[in-house]
Amino acid sequence: MSDNEYEIIIIGGGPAGLTAGIYASRARRNTLLIEKEIMGGQIANTELVENFPGFPDGINGYELGPKMGEQAMKFGLKMQFGEVTGVELRGNLKIVKTTDGEFSARALIIASGMERSKLGVPGEEKFAGKGVSYCATCDGALFRDVPVAIAGGGDSAITEALHLARFASRVYLIHRRDQLRATKILQEKAFAEPKMQFVWNSVVEEIEGEEMVKRLRLRNVKTGEKTHLEVFGIFVSIGFKPRTELFKGIVPMNEGGHIITNEKLETAVPGVFVAGDVRQNSAWQAITAAGDGATAAIFAERWLG
Ligand code: NAP
Repeated sequence: MSDNEYEIIIIGGGPAGLTAGIYASRARRNTLLIEKEIMGGQIANTELVENFPGFPDGINGYELGPKMGEQAMKFGLKMQFGEVTGVELRGNLKIVKTTDGEFSARALIIASGMERSKLGVPGEEKFAGKGVSYCATCDGALFRDVPVAIAGGGDSAITEALHLARFASRVYLIHRRDQLRATKILQEKAFAEPKMQFVWNSVVEEIEGEEMVKRLRLRNVKTGEKTHLEVFGIFVSIGFKPRTELFKGIVPMNEGGHIITNEKLETAVPGVFVAGDVRQNSAWQAITAAGDGATAAIFAERWLG
């Protein structure tokens, strides 16, 4: 076997991929995990993970990911940092092309996760990194004592709004409905936070500024009324889309781009498994992603025979 040949390749280093790595390596399968950025995936952007069993006081997301990685590498998992640029089926081999060369394996576990959805409004791209952010944990502290806004009404938006409230003078939460999607416990925290101000039934239509963000143009979706809001930053937290572009035409997906699997997390292609947020019907939690990683690795290892 050459240096670039493995028994299992895992794409993605979030809780799904890293847990698959732990199981595959403990099964003594020669396994490579390829990650684009940092270990932990989405949880690396979460300051406090409170719902991962075993940590009654919660744990920093940016600590939990590397800990999972350390555990997997202890059992022999090999890690490659780089971007996957293509995947090809060649006989019974799965070829994974990356910015750092080509790798092959008989079994592939796709655990590429999700990426933040964009608002798709004028000014969003222009002011990215200049007041438009997709990560409050990363950028929140830059907005000390100034007003900021956050778009979205789910768990992520509320978690991030509460984080922003530690720094900003005021946090406007702009939501397209008049009820939050977030879990009740997070809603209670948000309603109790004096710095939070809710802008209901509203969407951002344009982000304006000069060098940096200065103002948001808003539209009330019920009345059609147009208003504006003076803020120094806008955090976009309106959900995620699956990172499955590279697998189109290789494995069947649903309309939303999530990969379809059976209960063993096998796709329609023999030897290609899926774990975590990228699969259809995922619960989108770190713990369920980790469970998926274990399931996919166990069935991949059995499939290899
Ligand atoms: P989400 O649950 O899909 O919520 C997305 C929010 O953005 C919704 O409130 C949605 O409005 C709004 N939205 C979607 N598209 C929009 C658009 N084009 N314009 C304006 N608003 C838009 O996404 P999420 O909050 O990122 O959470 C994703 C998953 O991660 C969830 O399963 C969540 O439970 C999990 N998570 C959990 C925690 C935790 O502490 N347990 C923390 C973070 C994330 P509508 O409500 O009207 O659809």
